[in-house]
Amino acid sequence: AKQAGGASLAFFTQDILVEASSRLTIAAELKRAIVDNELELYLQPQLDSASGEVVGAEALLRWNHPVKGFLTPAAFIDVAEQTRAIRLVTGWLVKESFGIIKRWEQAGRDLFLSFNISALDLADNELLLRMTEELEHQQIKPANIELEIVESAIIENFQSASAILSKLRELGFHVAIDDFGTGYSSLAYLDKLPVDKLKIDREFTSKLELGEGAGIVKSIVDLASNFDLRVLAEGVETLEQEQLLKQLGCHRVQGFYYSKPIPLAEFEQKYLLPQA
Ligand code: C2E
Ligand code: CA
Ligand code: CA
Ligand code: CA
Repeated sequence: AKQAGGASLAFFTQDILVEASSRLTIAAELKRAIVDNELELYLQPQLDSASGEVVGAEALLRWNHPVKGFLTPAAFIDVAEQTRAIRLVTGWLVKESFGIIKRWEQAGRDLFLSFNISALDLADNELLLRMTEELEHQQIKPANIELEIVESAIIENFQSASAILSKLRELGFHVAIDDFGTGYSSLAYLDKLPVDKLKIDREFTSKLELGEGAGIVKSIVDLASNFDLRVLAEGVETLEQEQLLKQLGCHRVQGFYYSKPIPLAEFEQKYLLPQA
């Protein structure tokens, strides 16, 4: 038994080493991927529920890996977030997003673009500096850029995170809480969070048809209205969900029912070109 324990300990240690080196590989490779232009944004439209109009989009990261092929965030975002690699990714996102908004504005289109940031991005001033610089450089309307962040990332490091988000909002950028309702919420924090929008997690949207999610959605909508926040429901997949969300007073919707995330060029073709 002792020997078996020793052996499995050895395997265990080896597993950790293999895992650690694969983390380092992914982190180092992401650096290279940015230089080699392998990252790509897919856009998913966000609609106004009353008018049905597309008012903006969420940018979702994809990695065209030369060996592993087309990767979605599930394959690399966790590792990026656990290493400092995520900061490079976020830096890239800032540049890309501002560039996209600049082009849309030049085309006379007033849509917003949101992108996802991580806890590490709020640990110091780097993101704030980059956003400030890029705003000066590109001279876009800051309200057309929205940051999405999960609640826990703000609460974990509340002082620093809320100071940075407040400054970003003073500059005119918007902030949304992602996956709202899934974490350790936070009624105690909600009035102190420097945010504009709550994104209801798709877990609740998907339960709407069963009659289960409605209470939660309604509570979030009421909460938002008390704090003067907008509400978006994500993961809308059916007409019935759409109708219930409208009835419940949800302002915005996003999900496969309208569109999957699609490449930037396709998004622009579909939603930005003048209607024929
Ligand atoms: P998220 O921010 O909650 O993004 C929503 C995810 O749900 C996206 O997955 C999207 O494709 C998917 N989705 C949208 N509508 C529906 C629907 O109707 N039904 C279903 N079943 N799924 C839907 P994706 O693109 O694989 O992204 C997964 C997660 O990776 C994101 O979750 C976000 O946390 C993270 N992520 C994506 N891009 C970035 C990024 O640029 N930076 C950072 N830090 N994280 C990112
Ligand atoms: Ca998001
Ligand atoms: Ca989400
Ligand atoms: Ca999420």
